Amino acid sequence: MRTIVVGGGVVGITTAYYLAKEGHEVVVIDKATDVGTEATAVNAGLIAPAHCFAWASPAAPKMLVRSLFGEKTSIRVKPSLNPRFLWWGMQFMRECTSERAAINTLAKMHLCDYSQTKLKELSKTEDIDYQGVDKGLLYLYRDAQELELGMMKMKLLIDNGQKLDQLDMKGLAAVDPAFANSKVELAGAIHAPNDGSGNSQLFTQKLMEVLKRMGVEFQLGTTAKAFVADGNKITRLKTDKGDFIADNFVLAMGVWSPFLSRTVGQNLPVYPAKGFSMTFDLKDKAKAPELGGVDEKTLVAWSPMGDKIRISSTAMFSGFDKSHKPEDFEAIRGTASELWPDAADWQAGSMTAGFRPMTPDGPPIIGKGKKHSNLFYNTGHGHMGWTMSCGSSAAIVDIIAGRTPEIDMDAFVVRSIRK
Ligand SMILES: Cc1cc2nc3c(=O)[nH]c(=O)nc-3n(C[C@H](O)[C@H](O)[C@H](O)COP(=O)(O)OP(=O)(O)OC[C@H]3O[C@@H](n4cnc5c(N)ncnc54)[C@H](O)[C@@H]3O)c2cc1C
Repeated sequence: MRTIVVGGGVVGITTAYYLAKEGHEVVVIDKATDVGTEATAVNAGLIAPAHCFAWASPAAPKMLVRSLFGEKTSIRVKPSLNPRFLWWGMQFMRECTSERAAINTLAKMHLCDYSQTKLKELSKTEDIDYQGVDKGLLYLYRDAQELELGMMKMKLLIDNGQKLDQLDMKGLAAVDPAFANSKVELAGAIHAPNDGSGNSQLFTQKLMEVLKRMGVEFQLGTTAKAFVADGNKITRLKTDKGDFIADNFVLAMGVWSPFLSRTVGQNLPVYPAKGFSMTFDLKDKAKAPELGGVDEKTLVAWSPMGDKIRISSTAMFSGFDKSHKPEDFEAIRGTASELWPDAADWQAGSMTAGFRPMTPDGPPIIGKGKKHSNLFYNTGHGHMGWTMSCGSSAAIVDIIAGRTPEIDMDAFVVRSIRK
């Protein structure tokens, strides 16, 4: 059985892995000359079931309106008449009830939990060191009332099996001594001991080496242009390097997936949320955080990655514009220099931006489309694609094999931008 995976981010490469394990002849196609060069390369590195809250929530519309009036909210929107964005936005608004937010969050949480288990299993089996840290993650609060509210919000996850502990400043410094030196007054943190972090680009690139040894073919520097269908079957993939034929096709192009799916009439509800990302060399590791986490005030997220630290911020709905200015990184530099003043030169560091492939409701799209019997989707993982990658990919390969995946897949069915 020959299967083409289109997209070589963490989602495409983990899909290729489970397919190869299943005995498929696998070809990975990516427009870049390496794997893991887009969202996979810039993310904050959190492996975080406790960070799985759906963005479409009762609080979101107010925040988006404030952003339209110029406020620097953590989720921002640039006014646009792009019909795809308007359709996407309408669906997002419909999901902003507390009932829908809870359903979407729990679907994501179950996938995150499953995926974390699969990641541990895969990295152990294949001996992949991805700069993983397994000491949990910290969700920081600067205000006692916000910390109480944060704990109340976490009740949904706690009631559904997540372990989360409230820490005061003393407790926080005991879990991660780097916070003993913070310049900011913190009220404390929520510690998610079962969360973790790691470098998804390193993981993806190391997994590619494993896949090459398993006989997987890589067609890098190859841009997919269109699927060609004959009735309910995809017969070929057109690329700038010629046509590729296979029995099955898996679409895993992150935020670009809708461009390809539309060539065979499937209009996926995936839209980019731009985020900013910096990586700094640590100059004093003893003063840097040992655990990853999120500052719940600035929504700046970080992960230690060996001798470096990755820090990301902001979600901006501004289309496919990946440009950035130095001032876009102020929240990252400001938060880091307050929290760990002496750990790095916070005025240095590499600056980049990337797109989270967001669905309006939050759960990714994992399954077989209704139109074609051999076209499968594994995309739309939003702000959690590193966390969800191994579980999503194991599940899509179960679906391709005709098995029932190990978790409930109802929330992940292939859907359209217009309901
Ligand atoms: C700032 C930021 C912070 C984040 N933080 C976290 C985090 O802490 N934890 C977490 O779990 N997730 C996080 N995410 C989300 C996570 O990074 C993504 O969900 C995940 O990387 C998506 O992986 P992917 O493989 O689907 O997409 P991508 O990594 O974007 O890969 C898509 C691939 O498709 C290829 N492609 C595109 N068009 C074509 C074409 N026409 N032909 C061939 N190939 C093509 C691209 O070259 C690319 O390799 C973050 C994302 C961002 C942007």
